[in-house]
Amino acid sequence: MIRARVAGALVKRDHRHEVGVPPIVVGARVCGTPASYPKARLMYPVQPPPESLIRALAALDYDAARDVRERRCECSGPLHWATWKRKPRGLDLPDALCVRWGLCCGRCRRRVLPPSVLFTGRRLYLKAVLLLVVAARQRDRAQHSMARLRHLFGVSAKTIARWMRAFLDGLSPHPDWQRLRGRLPATVRDDDVPAALLDLGSPDTALVQACRLLPDL
Ligand SMILES: [Zn+2]
Repeated sequence: MIRARVAGALVKRDHRHEVGVPPIVVGARVCGTPASYPKARLMYPVQPPPESLIRALAALDYDAARDVRERRCECSGPLHWATWKRKPRGLDLPDALCVRWGLCCGRCRRRVLPPSVLFTGRRLYLKAVLLLVVAARQRDRAQHSMARLRHLFGVSAKTIARWMRAFLDGLSPHPDWQRLRGRLPATVRDDDVPAALLDLGSPDTALVQACRLLPDL
């Protein structure tokens, strides 16, 4: 229900987002090279996300894990908590926020990993940091130099390059993204995501929405 509301909000903002980003999109394919587009500056502030935002993401993770737990295991056995601490790089966070919720069946011992919007797979940085860094580089490489991003988030140039490549190669063909694609404004180009998603909402909500909507790459 919440996801539908988020997508609805994005679609409603379509007309307000037509400034400065020329849509040259045929179906889901982008025409021309990324360098051929004049790129607007990222509206979202490029700085370490506030703890309140991390708390919101951590709460979403807990809610998602609780939902999975209530549905029980495939064998209909009860799912017990099997959580562990993760210490993400780049941000100094309280331990209480660095929890990866996991579950384990009390009957067949199967382990179940609920989805996460705070973490992204096995990557060492939070998903919010990864999306923000990629978005910054997509829009203004001079302003958001590798050195500056390293200073802000502690992430190396090599890692940033790997993240950029993951988005360039992995987003368009990803089935979750393809499902979402048709619900977004046509002005959103695949090669401008996550930056385009961060421009669609207010700074209070856009990064949380992007963490929820975008698949792990
Ligand atoms: Zn089971």
